[in-house]
Amino acid sequence: MDLATTRRSRRRGVAMAGAATLLFFGAACSSDSPTSAPSTEASFADSTTSVTSSTAPRTTLPPTTTRTLKPVAGAAGVGDPLFPGLGNGGYDVTNYTIAIDAHPDDPAIRATTRIDAIATADLVSFNLDLHGFTLRSVRIGDTATTFVRDGDEVIVTPSLPIVDRAKFSVDLAYDGVPAPLSDPDIGRVGWLDIGPTSYVVGEPHGAHSWFPGNDHPSDTATYEFRVTVPAGVTAVANGVLREKRDAGDSTTWIWDQREPMATYLATVAIGDFTIQNGVGPHGLPLRHVFATRLASAAADATARTAEMIDVLESWFGLYPFATYGALVVDDAFGFALETQTLSLFPRSIAVRSTPSERIQVHELAHQWFGDSLTLARWQDIWLNEGFASYAESLWLERTQPGYDIDREMQSFANKRYGPIAHPTADNLFADAEYERGAVVLHALRRTVGDQTFSAIMLDYATTFSHRSVDTAAFVALVNRHAGEPMDAFFDQWLNAPISPALPG
Ligand SMILES: [Zn+2]
Repeated sequence: MDLATTRRSRRRGVAMAGAATLLFFGAACSSDSPTSAPSTEASFADSTTSVTSSTAPRTTLPPTTTRTLKPVAGAAGVGDPLFPGLGNGGYDVTNYTIAIDAHPDDPAIRATTRIDAIATADLVSFNLDLHGFTLRSVRIGDTATTFVRDGDEVIVTPSLPIVDRAKFSVDLAYDGVPAPLSDPDIGRVGWLDIGPTSYVVGEPHGAHSWFPGNDHPSDTATYEFRVTVPAGVTAVANGVLREKRDAGDSTTWIWDQREPMATYLATVAIGDFTIQNGVGPHGLPLRHVFATRLASAAADATARTAEMIDVLESWFGLYPFATYGALVVDDAFGFALETQTLSLFPRSIAVRSTPSERIQVHELAHQWFGDSLTLARWQDIWLNEGFASYAESLWLERTQPGYDIDREMQSFANKRYGPIAHPTADNLFADAEYERGAVVLHALRRTVGDQTFSAIMLDYATTFSHRSVDTAAFVALVNRHAGEPMDAFFDQWLNAPISPALPG
């Protein structure tokens, strides 16, 4: 996220069910590979169910063991202090299949979402996040399932408990006019309809206003999008176009996002768009999506994308996804967003006279920091924004003669920002997370030296590729490279009431 023209001034329950006894025949068959899990869509238990090893925590159990099943209700949140209602407990989503039927002249959508998940507890019920819509049905396998809606929570109660480690699939059918949520910095978030065009702004909590799921970045999953629109209308989404299926007066666009993705990074756009294909470093496929009216100017504005990827790869290692591109929407909004593999930009990057390279590099850098390395909790937002902001300076340091990175970082430090380790939900995108965050990295660079700093950046980006991170994980990695504990350094730079002075 880059709040380029809005706030930023520069340039721009646990309920116990009836206990049941399960038999495990496990240890003789001990693979933990997900592929060894049962092929049925869901594994349920009742008081007489025998559960094979593939659904049990095998390695800690003797060959034949009994235990008492005490299924619980999955929690209504993942425990994020800033967003207690976001996400849910008791399962991990592995894949979303989101099918949307939309028409540019109709604000309503008709949709189904299949959620493939693995239970992380014996579940008598579990929650999904969903805002708005008429929820027509919830099915597990072939069975219509009881559900209750409570605010933005959908509480699903299967006919039988789901066993810990079992794979299961939930199918939801819903329709209506999407009702965006609001964020104090960004404005409306969710599925946005601006007449003939619809697009998505998901950060931080807008995803569950257009598809149900586990809406927290700590639970990433792969995605398949099937978007059906009238013939002649373009529908795009994250990832790679697998198929464009024509059916007379309608077309279904099928996009695959094969690497894991956080919910807030999911995107779909529908309207009059032109797809421009290209090639980036080492053959990386590029595909930009431009509002057709802006296509020529947007192509000019994004002409250095391959060079930007090349420079950032020199710092952070290989670009972490199968494709990249810019989605330029013909709308005026004061930010850009790092939607995975397809960063979202407003029309201003195509039509304004001032260069937009910094914003483009910022969103590209998020493909590593935020998208590949996802936040375990929102309060560590500086790991996204500080890194993406510093990447802007790394780009300029490499490509713009006369750019003085020390001078810019000193100008940020002179603002004497307050602590950045504890943002609030209402102030997640404060300038401090961006600029003091960048200064933290520059101070680290000046403290450990360029060579060690480069090694830290590369190791961090590759070690935690497609994994969750938090500040403690980054500090531990830095400590290994620095050869001495840097905890006091980070305590000062993240928590001191006023940003410390930059090392000379
Ligand atoms: Zn950002």
